[in-house]
Amino acid sequence: MQYPEWIWHNGAIKRWAEATTHVMAHALHYGSSVFEGIRCYQTPSGPAIFRLTDHNRRLLASARIYEMAMPYSVDEINAACREVVLRNGLSQAYLRPVAFRGLGGFGLSADTPTDMAVAAWHMGPYLGEGVLDDGIDACVSSWQRFAPNTIPAGAKAGGNYLSGQLVAREARRLGFGEGIALASTGLLSEGAGENLFLVIDGALHTTPVSAALLNGITRNSIIHLARDAGIDVVERDLPREYLYLCDELFMCGTAAEITPIRSVDGRAVGAGKPGPVTRRIQDLFFGLFDGTTPDRHGWLEPLEA
Ligand code: PMP
Repeated sequence: MQYPEWIWHNGAIKRWAEATTHVMAHALHYGSSVFEGIRCYQTPSGPAIFRLTDHNRRLLASARIYEMAMPYSVDEINAACREVVLRNGLSQAYLRPVAFRGLGGFGLSADTPTDMAVAAWHMGPYLGEGVLDDGIDACVSSWQRFAPNTIPAGAKAGGNYLSGQLVAREARRLGFGEGIALASTGLLSEGAGENLFLVIDGALHTTPVSAALLNGITRNSIIHLARDAGIDVVERDLPREYLYLCDELFMCGTAAEITPIRSVDGRAVGAGKPGPVTRRIQDLFFGLFDGTTPDRHGWLEPLEA
């Protein structure tokens, strides 16, 4: 990764090398951070940050779940996001706002002060070059997602990503592009860092928020785009075997965008290549950024507000 020059840290723009924290920061020991991943796209009317406000609302919601005081409002964090992209001269970027319990107070229930940073850098397809066209080979992980009464999956918190690391690392070690986890119920949950959509008889089926998953903003966008286009969407519990029976399968997330899955556990999904409904959803989604899909929901927030 090539580091950009500037980063936003606790209210000021600093040089990348100067945006550091102490080794005794609470978050480093206990996973007590909340964060977002957001993309800025080039569009015919200039760079736009996709659902910036919705992402930063989710950031505040994640902090609220953990009773973490947030020193900045959504508007202030939106402004910090814009500032760091502009300052680095980026027009296509992945943005990473992160808020964390910093230094001062060390007990588990300590009201440690919250530090905050926003980084932005150029990022291509998260799961590898060419995957948006070709699709990936996925596997079902031997690791399950955490049960809902243990760690709230609806918070995008640093500690949750220990689970994601186990799932993703196991998949890569075994030669797969990504891992899919089951919930503690044994039913399908989501990918290591992506939500799941199955195509069955032309309709989209996606696992519900009760299945230990992050309520993804890309997932929500796809639900809207599909329904706007007359494609049925069902949020429902899905057993593992549907991965082997569905006609098409894809993963989605800010980083992964819309990545087709061509096989699971070595079994071809449908025809073993990205299918027509997946392509249609990709066209609708990426069409938001080339102007071929109208932005009916006001999701494109201009970089220069
Ligand atoms: N699930 C997990 C565990 C994730 O980390 C992500 C990426 N943030 C997603 C789903 C997709 O969420 P979003 O579309 O909001 O990026």
